[in-house]
Amino acid sequence: MDLIFPIECLRCGKDGVWLCAGCFSRLEFRDSQRCLSCKQETAFGRFCRACRPGYSLRGVLIAGNYEDELLSKLVKSLKYKFARKLSKDLGKFLILFLGGIFRIPLNSPASLLSPILLNGGRFRPARAAGFSDFNFKTALIIPVPLHPRRERWRGFNQAELIARELADYFNLEMNVGGMDRVKHRRPQTKLSKKDRKNNIKNCFTWRSGSLSGRNIILVDDVATTGATLNECARVLKENGAGKIWGLVAANG
Ligand SMILES: [Zn+2]
Ligand SMILES: [Zn+2]
Repeated sequence: MDLIFPIECLRCGKDGVWLCAGCFSRLEFRDSQRCLSCKQETAFGRFCRACRPGYSLRGVLIAGNYEDELLSKLVKSLKYKFARKLSKDLGKFLILFLGGIFRIPLNSPASLLSPILLNGGRFRPARAAGFSDFNFKTALIIPVPLHPRRERWRGFNQAELIARELADYFNLEMNVGGMDRVKHRRPQTKLSKKDRKNNIKNCFTWRSGSLSGRNIILVDDVATTGATLNECARVLKENGAGKIWGLVAANG
């Protein structure tokens, strides 16, 4: 595969890596979080009071901007160029983001923070804010599942690889396989907001028993209207889940 697709940094072309340390440090976090439905600024991307009744999710945390060319290249290359190792970079991006949001001191192993230090601290953690009503330490991490057919085609589920980085770093429990994607539907990309909601309905099932009030972080690579994340959340709620937040690397 490397002969067909030579590996080089997506930004500067450096040989042998998909993203070099210097270019990693140029990724930028979003400077505000918004209600994904009406786009008004809200704390942590919580759904606003008016939009909330339509959602099972509390909100969706979005780390970066899809308009950031480097970030969108990263996401696309992971998915369509099978650049599996990029899940580590996206995972790292989300770890730094969550560290800021939840005020978790990052026990900075050199591998995580060296790119930031290398670049003279240019890479600023997301604004520390402190999430008061969500216990991060006991949260269950669940990646949005792919339909098995799509996962076989790609060889992996990108959401699962990214989620694994987070779970490992923060020592959180992760569930894979409890939720299934049971229907293969049209890709969401070309659909309107309303059509996305209908298209994704009843696509997921949960078969891992009662979630008895457990708080959950649902992880995916990107979210546009939040329809997929919310449909997962709806199913998890039916099975007794507590508060559920979405977490993605970019809107888009
Ligand atoms: Zn580079
Ligand atoms: Zn709203």
